[in-house]
Amino acid sequence: MRGRVVKGFQRGGRMLGFPTANLEVNAACVRQLKDMANWVFCGYGVIEPNTEAVYPMVMSVGNNPQFKNAELTVEVHFLHKFDDDFYGATVRIVACAPIREQGAFSSLGSLIAAIQGDCDLALKLLPSQFAEWAAVSFLVNEPRPEEDVDDSCGDEKVPFVAVGVTDPSKA
Ligand code: ADP
Ligand code: MG
Repeated sequence: MRGRVVKGFQRGGRMLGFPTANLEVNAACVRQLKDMANWVFCGYGVIEPNTEAVYPMVMSVGNNPQFKNAELTVEVHFLHKFDDDFYGATVRIVACAPIREQGAFSSLGSLIAAIQGDCDLALKLLPSQFAEWAAVSFLVNEPRPEEDVDDSCGDEKVPFVAVGVTDPSKA
């Protein structure tokens, strides 16, 4: 996926200690992502234009059952400490594997513990099972010219492309 970082409810960082870069989605994206809703994924991401730096990440797709959001959101927590925010930047994401189905927890503390568990699992799984995905051309190459990117989804434009490849040598 590739998308612009927009403002959310400001909960990730301040309330939970895990800031998440919320990607811009429209109705067409939401339709495309329905099957992935309410799961946490692990994978890799870059922040354009600095595509040499590939970070491991965990990503939530869904309605944040804990907070009962009406709208589906795509939120990426990079496993890296940044000095500054990067609202407005464009990020590229490769999701490698689903790691947890989302649900509501009885306390904020148990949600925070679950997210910490997601991060720990991602840091174990990614280097051991998905290392080659960190080097796929979609992440590390120069962005393709806009006219070359298929961002159509029916007759609506989507701001990012969901890729369904399973073989990193072909990605
Ligand atoms: P919002 O609800 O606006 O998404 P968050 O509390 O989730 O607010 O904070 C998200 C912002 O924090 C991101 O948009 C990004 O600019 C910044 N940020 C800083 N460090 C990280 C990180 N490690 N992963 C993701 N976003 C980060
Ligand atoms: Mg966020």
